[in-house]
Amino acid sequence: MSLHELSIAELRRRIASGEVTPLEASDAALAQIDARDRDVHAFLDVHKDRARARAKALAESGTAKTLPLGGVPVAIKDNMCVEGTLTTCGSKILGKYQPPYTATAVARLQDAGAIVIGKTNLDEFAMGSSTENSAFGVTRNPWDLARAPGGSSGGSAAAVAAGMAAASLGSDTGGSIRQPAALCGVVGVKPTYGRVSRYGLVAFASSLDQIGPFTRSVEDAALVLNALCGKDQMDASSASVPVPDFTSELDRSLKSVRIGIPWTFLGSHVDPAVRASFDRTIEAAKREGADVVEVALPNADFGLAAYYILANAEASANLARFDGIRYGHRSPRAQSLYDVYAKTREEGFGREVKRRVLLGTYVLSAGYYDAYYRRAQQVRSLIIRDFAEAFQKCDVIALPTSPTPAFKLGDKTDDPILMYLNDVFTIPVNLAGLPGISVPCGLSKEKLPIGLQLIGRAFDETTLLRVAAGMERIAEFPTGAVAPVSKGIPT
Ligand code: GLN
Repeated sequence: MSLHELSIAELRRRIASGEVTPLEASDAALAQIDARDRDVHAFLDVHKDRARARAKALAESGTAKTLPLGGVPVAIKDNMCVEGTLTTCGSKILGKYQPPYTATAVARLQDAGAIVIGKTNLDEFAMGSSTENSAFGVTRNPWDLARAPGGSSGGSAAAVAAGMAAASLGSDTGGSIRQPAALCGVVGVKPTYGRVSRYGLVAFASSLDQIGPFTRSVEDAALVLNALCGKDQMDASSASVPVPDFTSELDRSLKSVRIGIPWTFLGSHVDPAVRASFDRTIEAAKREGADVVEVALPNADFGLAAYYILANAEASANLARFDGIRYGHRSPRAQSLYDVYAKTREEGFGREVKRRVLLGTYVLSAGYYDAYYRRAQQVRSLIIRDFAEAFQKCDVIALPTSPTPAFKLGDKTDDPILMYLNDVFTIPVNLAGLPGISVPCGLSKEKLPIGLQLIGRAFDETTLLRVAAGMERIAEFPTGAVAPVSKGIPT
């Protein structure tokens, strides 16, 4: 196995023993970027010199051998701040913006010894499910370059899938970690709301946003979460809940685990290949001794509609700060103060972002607030209650992550609703603030990855990861696989 294919766990063993140096580890990732990123375009910015300097410093200080993520190359979604480097959010409006500080999540990985090798592509301001809404070009799925990697954290998922980083960070507001993880054949975790500090994450919808890792195995995800989680004084919404060792229960079997399946919700939304793979994995879990029970999530079907009211409302407020005065781009055509706002925003934002700001402003406006925003909040409360009732009967809930495997680039760009439907199974989890994970569970006939989603109780990532590790062992997917090199960009 080449260095860039190693799991974090194995890479750490070799670095700790001195067999591999941090510089070799980061150079292997950078070489893989050179080899594959011309086709995949996962990265918006590669921090080659910084990464190599940091690798050398880690080796010289000796800390690479002892720190839990010492020498591990990681990539960061480009909506998280890394001091002194570009942070674009995939938007022209941020232009050449360089934040003067580093996001806590990134700082925690660095404190644990990780090496940031670059920033990854995303749908503009994390709004999308395919990474086609980036102002800086699309990212391609490493398993099939004609297809989308999912989104909005498509660059982070593709980077890990193609072996260009051992782990990466994404953000998940309605599915943006889990859905691209499923489409790219990697593990993606959305922790419980409040588990990970969002200080330094550019806000999209603050009551839903959460940061989490992409890795090529569940064990690696647990290792990254160990470094990432915990209270942060800089983020009042981060929770003071103890952080256990998330690797502690990974070896336990699936015996007597109660897996709840909302069959009615799962219903008809699903592609046959995804359904077949889901059913096979659940049958295999039963053979391992898991108890499969039916649960109801009667209001989950309304999650998508509620989400697109609440997320857009919050986005319209959060994005008001991009006014041409404080950050990045300012229109050179502006003649008056009003013009500075209007023309900057007109030039700086893409179509999807404008659509959401308009819708969000509308649902919050006088006369419509009660009809839309308030009702959506009520639906959210009902969904929270549905999950609470379901968890009386089970320890985790299983669903497909995404209704289909990776779709062709361009296939859904003309129809926003079709694109939004990608997240039908992931959005209710954000509305309820619960932790969720996507684990690869199979390959379609076209050799496209399929993801299984597991949902846990709030702050019970330990059980979530334990069950995910059990599923990973029985799934018909080559755990840890780097996506095979495909033929080159189809014309
Ligand atoms: N695809 C969803 C949206 O477009 C979710 C995005 C996300 O989780 N950031 O809003």
